[in-house]
Order: sequence, then structure tokens, then C-alpha cells
Amino acid sequence: MDEFDIVVIGAGVAGLSAAATAARRGARVAVVEKLGAGGQIMTVERIENFPGAVEPVAGFELGPAMQEQAEQAGAEFLLDAVEEVLLDGPARVLRCSQGEITARALIVAAGSSRRALGVPGEERLEGRGVSHCASCDGPLHRGKTVAVIGGGDSAFDEALILATHAGQVLLIHRGESFRAAKPTVEKVSALENVRICLNSTVEEIIGDNVVQGLLVRDRITGASRRESVDGVFVYVGLEPNTDFLKGKLDLAEDGRVLTDRFMQTSLPGVFAAGDIRHASVALLAEAAGDGATAAIAALNYLSEGFEKARAVE
Ligand code: NAP
Repeated sequence: MDEFDIVVIGAGVAGLSAAATAARRGARVAVVEKLGAGGQIMTVERIENFPGAVEPVAGFELGPAMQEQAEQAGAEFLLDAVEEVLLDGPARVLRCSQGEITARALIVAAGSSRRALGVPGEERLEGRGVSHCASCDGPLHRGKTVAVIGGGDSAFDEALILATHAGQVLLIHRGESFRAAKPTVEKVSALENVRICLNSTVEEIIGDNVVQGLLVRDRITGASRRESVDGVFVYVGLEPNTDFLKGKLDLAEDGRVLTDRFMQTSLPGVFAAGDIRHASVALLAEAAGDGATAAIAALNYLSEGFEKARAVE
């Protein structure tokens, strides 16, 4: 059993920022991550709103760079999956598939996963035309027709990428106004090879071995029609990765972790950072800030005790 001052769950922007901040101040820090550095941004080709990114930066470059920075500061990375957290005793114990890790403080930065549409054909055709990564799978659909589902920033950002590969992009949205940033909506709407279908829901993804089409219902007329597409990119929101925290920490109704402004959760010595946190605006700048705040709060907790850290508030 290895023992650390602080253990961070998740190597997305929030977790990596927390690890670098705490390690630079001399704490012995471990980051446990089941996939690779970067989290959600690993599939993002162009990040334009990270502070200092005058030129768009690729998520698959930013993630590893942040990991390198945290490692240079002394943080240790463990490629492992957290199966259970034990938070009752004085130590925070993580049961992982390869063993146990203990620490005196825990920062949960496990992020979110893409929400599924929940229609017939989606699960069966995942990886066979159903995708959540425009940069990875867009080039496979060169000159063909693909659909993007959703009306948020992810759908519009990824539609911009797909429009550079596909012959035509259908953007299918259930409502008639978008959550995505207005300038991006205008940019996408102006593209000749993008067709936007409003008030439309996808009822089925059709195909035997690969995606061949969609059954789309017009919510105003009630009529259903078939659209021929070779790929479907689903961006209908995010679900927090908090299943392993249920019953252990106070969660909000949306499943996200409740924290105060120091990222302190309902349990002393346990902090949450990034879009797993309730009321997060899910921007990368915020994730980095959350991570740094959680790290400082965890260090205060370790050096001064929980009561004193709270007293600052
Ligand atoms: P989101 O903002 O939650 O948008 C999800 C979209 O999917 C909404 O348009 C929603 O429709 C639709 N939707 C939800 N469930 C659906 C269903 N079952 N069937 C059909 N449509 C459904 O998700 P996101 O775009 O992934 O963004 C998540 C967060 O990350 C946001 O806070 C966003 O601002 C942030 N983000 C920022 C950037 C950036 O700054 N460039 C990029 C990506 C993400 P309704 O509108 O009708 O509810």
C-alpha cells in the first residue's frame, strides 16, 4: 500500500492543475487515471479559449503537456481504475484494480462522460459509425454525409471540424434555439455543406453492421423521415462520473458533487474540481482554476486542519 499526502482522481485539466499546484508546494501527490492525460480534451482538435492560446491548441497536446509539467513538479502518475473509495477513516483509501492507495487528502477530478442518446441502434453501432470524436473519426467520412446531434458548444465545435472532412453535415437539434456560443453558431450556419434541422429528434440509428441512416421525427408535424448518413456524432451533454461517490459525499440533484468555494465537499479533506463539481460552467479555464483552488485548500487542510481551513471562509 502506497501512502501520499494528496491523491487526485482524474488527469483532466482540473486534476492536472491540482497535481501540479500541490506538488510544486512540496506535497507528495499521486494522480490516478484510467485512460490518459487530458480527459475530455483528448479528442478536441482546436481549443481556442484556454488562457494564452493565441493560436488554437490541440487537446491531445495540451493534456500531455500538463502531465509533463505536473510530473516535473514531482507528481506521480498511476494508470489504474478506481473501483471504490473508502472515506470513513482518517485516511482516504482508493481501491484500484491494481491495489490500494492511501492519502491524507483527496481531490476528485474524475470529470464527466458523454451522455448517450438512448435510441435503438446507438449502442450496437458504437464504433461502427456512431462516434463522439470528430477529429478521430471525421477523416473516415471524407466526402460523405454525417450527422451531428445536439445544440450545445460540443455539437457546434465538432460540426466545424466535421465540415472540413465530410461532404455534408446535418446538425440535428431537438429545440429551436441553441446553447452554443453565438459566434460559433453563426460560423457553422454560414457553411455551405452544413444543413441544420431544428425541432427534430433522432428515433433510431439504422444500419446492419455500419451506420446507414437515421430515423428523424419532426417535433412540430410529428412526421418521421429517413436521412441517409454514414456517421453519427452524438453531443447531447455530459453525465458526471460520480457513481462511485454515491452515498459517500453529498451530491446535487444532477449527480454532481456539492462543494463550497474552496472546492471542499461535505467530507473534511475531500475536495472536488472541474466539471464534476455542481454549478461548474465546464470551461477549461475554470477547470484549471478549480484544480489550483482545491490543491491549496487540501494543503491548508493538511497543514492546519479542517477547522482552521474553514475558519478562513
Ligand atoms: P450541453 O451544453 O449540455 O448541450 C447538450 C445539447 O444536447 C443541448 O442542445 C440539449 O438540448 C441536447 N440534448 C440533451 N439531451 C438530449 C437528448 N436526449 N436528445 C437530443 N438532444 C439532447 O452539452 P455540451 O455541448 O457537451 O457542453 C457541455 C459543457 O461544456 C457546456 O457547459 C459547454 O459550454 C461546455 N463546452 C464548452 C466548449 C467551449 O468553450 N468551446 C466546448 C465544448 C463544451 P436542449 O438545449 O434542448 O436541452
